[in-house]
Amino acid sequence: MNLVDKVKSKIRDVKDFPKPGIVFKDVTPLLSDPKLCIEITSALADHWQDAQVDAVVGIESRGFLFGMLLAQSMSVPFVPVRKQGKLPWKTVEFSYALEYGEATIEMHTDSIDPNWNVLVHDDLLATGGTAAAAAQLVNKLSASVAGFSFLVELEFLNGKEQLDPHAKDVKSLIYY
Ligand code: AMP
Repeated sequence: MNLVDKVKSKIRDVKDFPKPGIVFKDVTPLLSDPKLCIEITSALADHWQDAQVDAVVGIESRGFLFGMLLAQSMSVPFVPVRKQGKLPWKTVEFSYALEYGEATIEMHTDSIDPNWNVLVHDDLLATGGTAAAAAQLVNKLSASVAGFSFLVELEFLNGKEQLDPHAKDVKSLIYY
């Protein structure tokens, strides 16, 4: 079986989670297969080997899983983006609209240098609001977004459109 099929066979669809009408793509079964995790990481890293990437930004919380592995395999720093109130040091914050209400995410002010090119990673791209907000945090610290990396992309939601103003290069391993 090729890598894409192997990964697809392990991603679990959970209907009506966290609320009715949502089919949640559960990536946790991948974590029980260490060899597969290494293969996934190198496939994600492959796309960026000729790009200038100075750090990987991972989005709480499932973006930490392969985000950290990706940063390690590219030998660059990993930077966590977290929900408001979780990071202990000085932060920049950005608020964005959700289907109902608003969310705020934060990043430590000293976690990336100005002029860095940063790769934003999350487990899944849906509408793109979360990844676009992470890109705004990067820009607030005077750094640039080199691109976006996802394990899974829900193409029918057109999340790429929201990311386009930040970076043209959006690469996912699996598409639905
Ligand atoms: P969005 O901002 O709409 O692109 O949503 C992306 C964020 O929500 C990511 O951090 C995902 O982990 C999570 N998410 C959204 N939809 C799903 C889904 N169907 N299955 C799993 N995670 C999801």
